[in-house]
Amino acid sequence: MELWYTEEWTDNVRFSIKTDRHLFSGKSEFQTVDVFESKEYGRFLTLDGLMMVTEKDEFIYHDMIVHVPMATNPNIKRALVIGGGDGGTVRELSRYSTIEKIDMVEIDKMVVDVSRDYIDICACKLDDSRVNLYYEDGVAFIKNSKDKSYDLIIVDSTDPVGPGEGLFSVDFYNDCYRVLSDDGILVNQNETPYFESYAREMKRANNKISSIFPITKVYQAHIPTYPSGHWLFGFASKKFDPIKDQNREAWESLNLKTKYYNSDIHVGAFMLPQYVKDMLNED
Ligand code: SAM
Repeated sequence: MELWYTEEWTDNVRFSIKTDRHLFSGKSEFQTVDVFESKEYGRFLTLDGLMMVTEKDEFIYHDMIVHVPMATNPNIKRALVIGGGDGGTVRELSRYSTIEKIDMVEIDKMVVDVSRDYIDICACKLDDSRVNLYYEDGVAFIKNSKDKSYDLIIVDSTDPVGPGEGLFSVDFYNDCYRVLSDDGILVNQNETPYFESYAREMKRANNKISSIFPITKVYQAHIPTYPSGHWLFGFASKKFDPIKDQNREAWESLNLKTKYYNSDIHVGAFMLPQYVKDMLNED
């Protein structure tokens, strides 16, 4: 019998992957956690029936959430990841020898444990000596963090429902601003603009961040297993413009081998389709 993983992208659209094995299924205090194995996408992790990472396309999301801010400010030394339990964001950050501290705050320990057991391609750097893991709510963690204690905050969260909801609130973004250094950068995953229900959330998050940070921009990537495949990220900073201040030379001198990110796509990713620009500009 064929086994298919099917996820509802909207009430009227579904996405399916033929799977070979259902490797793990569990229920934590916060969500249901599943891992499947498939021919096309390798192993993949889902939370509450929504795709988080696949072995085949995780590099796109993790490259774009990490290297865009790092190539804008090569002096980032103290990084905070909120969510990100699969470990992919920490893995990419750990490639920078200039980073001294990587704190990761994941609300659900089960996600980290399961990723360590089944998705090693992402979790492989969680034991780096610079990494500190905290199992708590990112909203509370940041509320209790000292002013200007991080140079980079990456919100690698689930969607704005369930445990992820507070990570899309004005209070949370205000705390991010307070906790970031004067040349600090905030990056968050920002949903798809293509389907209306997700786009509404993206627009709301963007309005909130723009009311707090002087520099805000939206950039995009093609992520085949996320709804519609067209995904957005938010970039916010007190000082740096990601295009004008892109430090091509410094980043290229590091010789990091990346599979999606490069210095050209850094700029190209900020060139948005007209319908997305219109959406962001409308009141
Ligand atoms: N790449 C993924 C995506 O965009 O679909 C995100 C992956 S990562 C697994 C998201 C993580 O955020 C989950 O493990 C979830 O438990 C965590 N998370 C959700 N709400 C959180 C909160 N309030 N504080 C800390 N972590 C949270």
